[in-house]
Amino acid sequence: MRRFIALILTVALLSCPVRGAGGTKYVALTFDDGPSGKYTQRLLEGLQARNVRATFFLCGYRLEDYGELAREIRRRGHEIGLHGYSHDSMPNMSEEQLRRELTDTLALLPEGCLVNLMRPPGGATGQVVSRVSGQMNLSIIDWSVDPKDWATRDRDLILDRLLSMTGDGDVILLHDMTDSSVDAALALVDELKAQGYRFLTVSQLAMLRLRQLKPGASYSAFPPQ
Ligand SMILES: [Zn+2]
Repeated sequence: MRRFIALILTVALLSCPVRGAGGTKYVALTFDDGPSGKYTQRLLEGLQARNVRATFFLCGYRLEDYGELAREIRRRGHEIGLHGYSHDSMPNMSEEQLRRELTDTLALLPEGCLVNLMRPPGGATGQVVSRVSGQMNLSIIDWSVDPKDWATRDRDLILDRLLSMTGDGDVILLHDMTDSSVDAALALVDELKAQGYRFLTVSQLAMLRLRQLKPGASYSAFPPQ
């Protein structure tokens, strides 16, 4: 059902393209490590004001405190993926440990929230991560643009890095954990929209580019074929 809705949304987007100087380009904004209280809330309001949908990779231990924000993320039409419960590195976990990380996080998501994406902390993957993700019907989503926003509080620096790195089909990694990241993300939306970009969730972008997301497989970008 969720894939069907995504298909309908994608067809709707394609039927009314906005043309920039070089034609329409598409990217997916992704936000890791939340929900995080005021930063996530401010980001959600900024994205709503710009009519942009993003993908949020959420941590279980944060959902314990901010479950209401997960409902808000979903209510506003964004996509939710799993980022583990503890944010511990996954490749050295046993299958059982890893399955628990994912199922414990799933259990904290709003009722009826279907999830088919996961992103291991730090992007660290391996055979166990692929196998358990596959068994749980989750595709692994890496990224193709990383401005290392977590390492600075300089909004302009993050924005400069983002603008110099981003191209059509990119998956952009950010964290809704600081004001500088939220400010840079919203400024990026304004800049890229002016350049003819549109913003899709990861699943929408994959569908637009005719890439079928397979459980247990990894994806980092969806450039034009
Ligand atoms: Zn993370």
